Amino acid sequence: MSRTQVGIVGAGPAGLTLGQLLHREGIETIILEDRSRHYVEHRVRAGVLEQGTVDLLTELGVGERMRREGMVHHGIELRFGGRGHRIPLSDLTGGRAITLYGQQEVVKDLIAARLESGAPLLFEVDDVGLHGVEDDHPVIRYRHDGAEDELACDVIAGCDGYHGICRPSLPDGVLTVYEREYPHAWLGILADVAPSTEELIYCHSDRGFALHSMRSPEVSRLYLQVDPDEDIADWPDERIWEELQRRFDTEDGWTLRSGPTLEKGITPMRSVVAEPMQHGRLYLAGDAVHIVPPTGAKGLNLAVSDVRYLAAALVEWYRSGDDSGLQAYTATCLRRVWRAQHFSQWMTSMLHRPQHDPGGYERRLQLAQLEYVCSSGAAAASLAENYVGWEPSPIPSRA
Ligand SMILES: Cc1cc2nc3c(=O)[nH]c(=O)nc-3n(C[C@H](O)[C@H](O)[C@H](O)COP(=O)(O)OP(=O)(O)OC[C@H]3O[C@@H](n4cnc5c(N)ncnc54)[C@H](O)[C@@H]3O)c2cc1C
Repeated sequence: MSRTQVGIVGAGPAGLTLGQLLHREGIETIILEDRSRHYVEHRVRAGVLEQGTVDLLTELGVGERMRREGMVHHGIELRFGGRGHRIPLSDLTGGRAITLYGQQEVVKDLIAARLESGAPLLFEVDDVGLHGVEDDHPVIRYRHDGAEDELACDVIAGCDGYHGICRPSLPDGVLTVYEREYPHAWLGILADVAPSTEELIYCHSDRGFALHSMRSPEVSRLYLQVDPDEDIADWPDERIWEELQRRFDTEDGWTLRSGPTLEKGITPMRSVVAEPMQHGRLYLAGDAVHIVPPTGAKGLNLAVSDVRYLAAALVEWYRSGDDSGLQAYTATCLRRVWRAQHFSQWMTSMLHRPQHDPGGYERRLQLAQLEYVCSSGAAAASLAENYVGWEPSPIPSRA
């Protein structure tokens, strides 16, 4: 049997960031990941980093390539009714901004730092199982290189994403799950072509939502709202580009540059929160315990935010024996989690073509909301604050 202080399941953004946060405080961790290094380093997913995520990665010493290659954006465009309207994020938030830098690049940087530190990170582990999380001596059993091993820990961090084993390993009745399915999915492509825009375009159109994002000055990332049961085989590249062009069209004839598609796929959209985010000696973080539709660009950022709180609570506990931060972990995280849930579903419902809208009432509401956000300073500031990352402050009570 081996031993560590914190056993981390999953080497996504949550697990790797937690490993880095604890390593710099001298707390021992082992990270167990069921996929190969190549797989996790090439999984194309998120790309919008909040200011707080960028600041934390920089503080952790893994921000050097992000600073060189990431694209800092100070605004986004909302396009509807054939016209574009800029939301000046930085002007509305005291200078805060977002950075476009692929999740797989963040993961590569964190893995490189982890391996350089010499702290253990095992890829391609199988049959991971948690035991004893309800007593003080939890154990992770797993197979690696054909051999079985047991890892005794003080605490287990479940950072193994939505399809992981940590959340389902909790006894029945512990978790309350809040969820919403959406009648939409995103068809996403990564394309070897320079972006046709300097800033992200969130586009409402009568044909459905479209998003123009990017990963570098040479690589574009584009999304189309489609039905969840849509088959990617029915979407040859030519059809995708044609549909994108039609949705992004403006009164003055905006043109989308097209190019070879490097990757494409369809992702369903859902909102999920499981509470509490902890049980006994198991603490869940990131997609393992909550999911947001990607419209608000919050998933990765929330994963990083959870482990920032978890690391601070663990450091306090190891330093002084004070476990109040650990006890408050769920409540601390949930303020940001539910704010992000609301923002993500609000952006989704404002921008996606409703499935049932006989008579067009929902569409008129969406346009009224978009017009309000683009013409009211207060509404635009609220969107901007959420988009660059809301930092909870104490809720004032009546004197
Ligand atoms: C198409 C798409 C676009 C997105 N766009 C955005 C965006 O723009 N902005 C944003 O903030 N978010 C976005 N997201 C969401 C974001 O990618 C996730 O929220 C983020 O990956 C969460 O990180 P995580 O570390 O919690 O989970 P994950 O990244 O899922 O990492 C979990 C890790 O655990 C491993 N694992 C699973 N099971 C086991 C096991 N049994 N044992 C060991 N390891 C295991 C997995 O292989 C994985 O490496 C997007 C997601 C998708 C799919």
